[in-house]
Amino acid sequence: MHDFQFKNNELYCEKIKVREIANKVGTPLYLYSHHTLVDHFTKIKKAFAPVNPMICFAMKANGNLAVLKTLLNEGAGVDIVSQGELLKALKLKADPKKIVFASVGKTEEEIALAIKTGILFFNVESVPELEEINRVAQKMNKKTQAALRVNPDVEAATHHFITTGTLKNKFGIDLKSTYDILKSQKKYPHVKISGLHIHIGSQLTTNEPFIKAIKKIVEFISSLKNEGIDIEYLDIGGGMGIIYKDEKPQTAQEYADSILPILKRTSLKIIMEPGRFIVGNAGIFVTKVLYIKDNGYKKFIIVDGAMNDLIRPSLYHAYHEIVPLKKAEVDTGTFDVVGPVCESGDFFAKDRVLPKVIQGDFLAIMSAGAYGYVMSSNYNVRCRAPEVMVHGNKYAVVKDRETYQDLMRGEHIPEFLK
Ligand SMILES: *Cc1c(COP(=O)(O)O)cnc(C)c1O
Repeated sequence: MHDFQFKNNELYCEKIKVREIANKVGTPLYLYSHHTLVDHFTKIKKAFAPVNPMICFAMKANGNLAVLKTLLNEGAGVDIVSQGELLKALKLKADPKKIVFASVGKTEEEIALAIKTGILFFNVESVPELEEINRVAQKMNKKTQAALRVNPDVEAATHHFITTGTLKNKFGIDLKSTYDILKSQKKYPHVKISGLHIHIGSQLTTNEPFIKAIKKIVEFISSLKNEGIDIEYLDIGGGMGIIYKDEKPQTAQEYADSILPILKRTSLKIIMEPGRFIVGNAGIFVTKVLYIKDNGYKKFIIVDGAMNDLIRPSLYHAYHEIVPLKKAEVDTGTFDVVGPVCESGDFFAKDRVLPKVIQGDFLAIMSAGAYGYVMSSNYNVRCRAPEVMVHGNKYAVVKDRETYQDLMRGEHIPEFLK
């Protein structure tokens, strides 16, 4: 459930007409519902209350400061993947003890800043990385914490670009190597390895892969215990799927019901890293119809948003529901919804049955809150769209539309060209 609903045939976000915001702010734009964000976070928190997990929002799904602040206000921690995300979290005074840091390619600069900040732990993805963290911590005369990201080699039924938990992927460390590292912890005196981490993929709509991976890891942890190796934290990652089209994903409660029995048998401190589940359906992308084009073979709705704003359809062939802001009982037709960018890959939908809209109408591209704005670019020298947040009957621009000055900042004509 989310807060983008039709009332009297008009799309509302909470208590405001989306059209009103589109007219005021201009299009294209991203729009987020504060209430939906809180609601989704709360659903996870309630469902998993029996193990009282630390819920670290995966801010790579949506790094907007107002979105992050909304979740921090609810007690969320943060799952970061870069120094930039760390700096954003620190700007909002996120508690470093609730920050975990994943990424297969952490640089020395990133590692040093995270150690200085005192984050809870690094999610370590390889032996060389662990060696590097140890070296940097030693240089700083500090001891830091790590969780090893285990690749449980579990196939997750999702798009092959977003499955991460098999040995074909670049992520994590296989079980045997994890064991070897834990046995030789003395080699890393500046890193306390206190946890294990898994994240097997994104947009998973069934519990089976989660259950399989978590069972595997919990059994592994108990076998370690027999050898005197104590693990304090289990970070079960993110990956919970949402409804884009006709998926029937597990609810937070169903997910919890399926894995709590396994988790409750342990005394591990549980960490979760949901991204898409919290923010995916809490955001939409609003765009305006520029032209309708009929080339005799196909019909196109050409809009002012493009693949540079929302790349999921082009990149993953992802489905996003598209609805006019005004629901009308009119004829439908079959259209490709495309943007102005000079690429055939610039589309939001192909062969989609839609109401016949006209020039100047607004369309909402639904479920665009996760991996939307954060993946936007300036391709074709297009300014990034603004981000707007609604709270009840109020709204605020939480990120300005980029200006052409922004786009040219930092570019120089060298002397030899003058
Ligand atoms: C991307 C990512 C997440 C969040 O994934 P969602 O599918 O958005 O929940 C969590 N943990 C790690 C390590 C990630 O890379």
